[in-house]
Order: sequence, then C-alpha cells, then structure tokens
Amino acid sequence: MAQQDDNILKKVVSHAKEYGFVFPSSEIYDGLGGVYDYGQNGVELKNNIKEYWWRFMTSLHDNIVGLDSAIFMHPTIWKASGHVDAFNDPMIDNKDSKKRYRADVLVEDAIAKLEEKVEKEVEKAAKRFGESFDKTMFIATNPRVAEYQKKVDEANARLKDAMNGNDMTAMKQLVIDLEVADPVSGTKNWTDVRQFNLMFSTEMGSVAEEANTIYLRPETAQGIFVNFLNVQKTGRMKIPFGIAQIGKAFRNEIIARQFIFRMREFEQMEMQFFVKPGEEMKWYEYWKEKRMRWHQTLGLGKENYRFHDHLNLAHYANAACDIQFNFPMGFRELEGIHSRTDFDLRSHEKFSGKKLQYFDPEDNQNYIPYVVETSVGLDRMFLSVLASSYVEEKLEDGSERVVLRIPPALAPNKVAILPLMKKDGLPEKAEAIMNVLKFDFRCYYEDKDTIGKRYRRMDAIGTPFCITIDHQTLQDDTVTIRYRDTMKQDRLKTEEIKSILEQECSMSRLLQSI
Ligand code: ATP
Repeated sequence: MAQQDDNILKKVVSHAKEYGFVFPSSEIYDGLGGVYDYGQNGVELKNNIKEYWWRFMTSLHDNIVGLDSAIFMHPTIWKASGHVDAFNDPMIDNKDSKKRYRADVLVEDAIAKLEEKVEKEVEKAAKRFGESFDKTMFIATNPRVAEYQKKVDEANARLKDAMNGNDMTAMKQLVIDLEVADPVSGTKNWTDVRQFNLMFSTEMGSVAEEANTIYLRPETAQGIFVNFLNVQKTGRMKIPFGIAQIGKAFRNEIIARQFIFRMREFEQMEMQFFVKPGEEMKWYEYWKEKRMRWHQTLGLGKENYRFHDHLNLAHYANAACDIQFNFPMGFRELEGIHSRTDFDLRSHEKFSGKKLQYFDPEDNQNYIPYVVETSVGLDRMFLSVLASSYVEEKLEDGSERVVLRIPPALAPNKVAILPLMKKDGLPEKAEAIMNVLKFDFRCYYEDKDTIGKRYRRMDAIGTPFCITIDHQTLQDDTVTIRYRDTMKQDRLKTEEIKSILEQECSMSRLLQSI
C-alpha cells in the first residue's frame, strides 16, 4: 500500500541512503542538484526493473526488437523534433529571495488553492444541508463560491492561452493577478517570465571555430526514430512492429525536487510502435491496457494506479495519457502513452532529405508509419517500488522493524545465507550451500552479529528469504528458512531451497502472470 505522506518520502530518502540504495551525487562536495547515484542494493533493484521491462517488451512480443543508440546525436535532430524551439518551461525569479520557480507551477498552485476554498465551502454546506444538498446548484448560486469558481475557470483559460501562445507577458500578468507570493520571502516582487530551454548543450570538436553545439538527449525516442529504417530493413520487420530502448536522458529541470521523481539526469524505458496510418487509435488502446497490466502484475496494489488523459496535447500527439502512481506526494505521472502520429518521421524526412517510408507489401504502397509510444521513467519506477514497499511494523513483542516488501523477483538479493556461528565448520557448510545457489540467485552472505540483528538488516534491504545454518545442518543437512513478510520459520532440506526460490523469486514466473 502506498502511504500518502511527505514524512514517508523523507523516511524513504534516508532509508535509501542508509541501506545503499540511492546516494546524492558528489556527496562529499555537498551534492549536485537533481542528480543521484545508485548504491550496491539500488543498482540490483534497478537492473531487475529493467529486466522486467525489457523481457516483457522484447522477448514476449515477437514484433518488438531492442536498440541502444548513442546519447550524442546530430544537432539537427533536435531542430526536427521540435525540442530546440519548443522544449521550454516558463521561468520566473523572486527578486527578494533570489529563488527560481516555474511560472506555470506557481499559477497551478494558486489555482489549486482557490479550488480548495471551493471544496471547503462545499463541505461545510453539505454538512449544513444534509441529504437535500445539491453541489452543482450550490456552486452556481452561492455568491462567494461562484466568485472563486469564476476565478478558477478564468485562470485556467488564461494559463492555457499563455502556454499555447508562448506569451510570457500574459504569464507574468497572471502571476500578478492571482497575487502569487513567494513561499520563501513572502513578497510579490517578481522578475519577468522567461522561456527556459530544458536541453543541456555542449560542444563537440577540439577547435573552437569548428566546434558544433550538440545536446545531451532529453528523450531516448529520437534515437529510435532516426534508426527506424535501419532496424526495419536489417530485421526485415513488418508493420506493425516496435523498437525498444533503455537509456539515459537529460533535462535541465528548473527545479529538481522530490528525490528521484524529478532529476536532471535520469533513465527512460521507451518503446516506439510503428503502425499503419489510421490504425493508431486501436494500438493506442492496446498499449494502454498492456502497460497497465504490466504495472499491476507487480503487486504494489491495483488501487495505486490510474489513467490520466491529457487535455492539452503536445504538438506531435493526437492522443495521450499518463499512467499515474500513488507516490507519497500523491498521484503523479509514472509513464506516458502517446499517439505521436507521423510527426517525428515526417519531420526527419524533411530535415534530412532522406526518405523514411515503409513499403507495405500487402497494400503495395509506401507510407510514413504512425507511432504509438510508451515511455516510462526507470527512476520513477524505482521510487514507486521503494516507497510502496517501505513498511514500519510494530511486532507482538513490542519491538519495531522496518521491512521493504519489494516484490521478490525485483529484490536486490533473493536469499541471505547466515551461518549461526563463525566456527565449528558452519561457515564452510554455508559457503557450500551458497556455491550452489549463486549461479541462479543473488545471495548475500553474512556471519557477523546475532541472528536477530542479521534478520532485521535483511528485512531493511528487502531480502525475501534467510537461510540459517546451524549445528543440526551438519548432521542432517537441514536448514532454517525464514520468510521476510511473515517472519515465519520452517525447517527444510538444503536441496529444497532452490525450488522454493524458483517458485517465489523467478522473473520468468512474474512475466508469465502478466
Ligand atoms: P513531467 O510532466 O513529470 O515533467 P513529462 O510529461 O515531461 O513528465 P515525458 O516527456 O512524457 O515526461 O517522459 C516520459 C517519462 O520519463 C515520464 O513519464 C517520467 O517517468 C520520466 N521522466 C520525465 N522527466 C523526468 C525527470 N526529470 N526525472 C525523472 N524521470 C523523468
């Protein structure tokens, strides 16, 4: 169950650091905003999430193949994709606090406050009127509420116009009219609103005059589009088919916050599905359903996911929605599913002068395919798993434990191998067991501290099983297995361990249940 609480996020952040999941980047130099490193447990969890995605998208769909394109690409690609001209956020500074904000976010927050006022009045009235209460009628007729609602509607319309029309003067006026005050300084002393391009640029080439400005890719998708024909021809792919890619993306977010939810360097898992024009809506619905099932199969609670349709479509899309997850800060975008039309391929045809068309042998005609995209942030997936697995439990004996109930197939370590003592041949026996298991499952060996403390440490990093080797093991080849979630303990033969791990932790089984 995801727990909606800012405190939970704080606890998850410190737990992630204490137990080797996520560290702030460059920490000994006081960190670097919006950039994080994954530690010894984090990298395993991340790799398992990637495997879950990669195998589902490629191995389980025989018409989807993978790609690993370079981060650096020809600069004209970003002109063609629209990112040079349109990948902007409106930025505003408070002159007193010197803090920087996204103007659209300030406006959205102000609108949300007005909406809260409406809700409060509605709640009060509902209590007063009881059963006979008519909400729509109340909002329309109560003068104070009608006034708030009018302001909300007007502000929403003005925000949409300002964003669509790229009108930063109108955006500033909206900040003024809504009387937005800086949460830090409390003043309304704002700079003008400026458009801020989110792409990082650098130079390629050693001689300044010859150097070319190039960009760190803000999405992995363009690497797929420019390789569309390479893959289609060499793989003899027939439409419909998809190309999947996992890789780094970079965005100079104006404010990076909420831990690994909004980063400046992050990883995406994207798939572009090429379809016949006119069939894109059918495939859009197909991928919405498939992707939702993939998420829900993880077992983090079906109620923690929902679709959110985009009302303001990006310049390239004719339909778009998000799969939102119930993060500790509330429901937020986890994955985007977009029907991108033929915008990208058509634009690359124009800018490169090369044909990017598919010859359809069934229809005997050439066309530029339409594209349906699924794009999920790996780091946001990681946060969804970590935050919803984090549980503080009070035990029967009055003590407490923190346990990460990570789905076993994703857990960094599947099993801990724990010799009860560091003598009498127990470590040797434990190593022998580990030497069999380690080829199939990631094992964690530990022989320090009491067994109780070791169990707690394994709970804290989400290890689903602990195997304890004691003196009886030397006599009858049995061990104690302890289950993370129930803390139940059983005695079993060492040769049975493998099949239990296979049953409970196998990625293949998880994939089969989608
Ligand atoms: P948002 O509205 O939250 O900025 P977006 O709509 O710009 O996200 P897309 O361009 O659709 O995001 O990117 C696809 C996915 O990449 C998102 O669903 C998200 O999971 C991930 N993503 C995007 N920006 C970031 C970021 N700054 N940090 C981490 N993940 C990100």
